[in-house]
Amino acid sequence: MENKCKVIALANQKGGVGKTTTAVNLGVALAKAGKKVLCIDCDPQSSLSRSCKISDDPDSLDVTLSELMEYEMTGEDKDYILFNNTVQQFENIDLIPSNISLSGTETALFNCMSRESVLKRTIEPFRKNYDIILIDCMPSLGMMTINALVAADSVIIPCEPSFLSVKGLDLLLHSIAKIKRQINPSLQIDGVLMTMVDSRTINAREITGALREAVGLNINVFNTEIPRSVRATECPNVGKSIFGHDPGGKVATAYENLAKEVIGLERKAQVRPRPHGLR
Ligand code: ADP
Ligand code: MG
Repeated sequence: MENKCKVIALANQKGGVGKTTTAVNLGVALAKAGKKVLCIDCDPQSSLSRSCKISDDPDSLDVTLSELMEYEMTGEDKDYILFNNTVQQFENIDLIPSNISLSGTETALFNCMSRESVLKRTIEPFRKNYDIILIDCMPSLGMMTINALVAADSVIIPCEPSFLSVKGLDLLLHSIAKIKRQINPSLQIDGVLMTMVDSRTINAREITGALREAVGLNINVFNTEIPRSVRATECPNVGKSIFGHDPGGKVATAYENLAKEVIGLERKAQVRPRPHGLR
């Protein structure tokens, strides 16, 4: 049977563009829409684990993504008790936390067989339990992000409306194209997501326009833009998603709309074009 789970990486080598915020809030919005969602923290700085208040000190957690990946690398039989204990709950989603030991894991990847696909193999047993797995990537194009892009079926690229951010997309799109060519041919780009958009400033409007022009023809830019709001900034401090902190606010509404777009893409992918000759 075809696996119905879709793995989506949230990637951009630039920090502070809204990857983690999108992982949490898109995750919660998809779960509100009836999907079973797992978010994976793939950043040794543990922003996702911290935002979701999995622990005040994620570095003290015993079982995290690192332990699961290290099992995969050493080829030991998977300890299913460990696997089950790693998954934590936040609001209506599940979450695999990370901590600083993930940097050690990233270094260890260099001496390991099939080093680009360790994360893919690590999350394989989880696919059967979820409709959507979101991977919150770290702000680099290093081996851990490559692992995320190899494990993923598709990628969402959060991007801030600044000229530097738009310029930085080139490098990311190149890396994605290379991974698609060499390792993961079925990797799709779901789209670029404009985050922290302040529609009152002409600058943001110009850049959004420039971005749509620059990538628009080949690459989807989501119709939904995430507005800038202090309410979103407060979320990690209170340990809630935007749906817990400011339900009905403009950012919550935007993430709900984004979830609809993401579900729409999934439906479109299921309606496969008929092969030539059968039309
Ligand atoms: P990344 O994971 O790409 O580094 P984050 O999601 O951590 O980015 O966001 C960077 C900062 O911007 C955080 O302080 C976050 O609270 C804030 N932020 C994210 N989205 C918004 C938004 N829509 N409006 C205002 N602040 C936001
Ligand atoms: Mg982050």
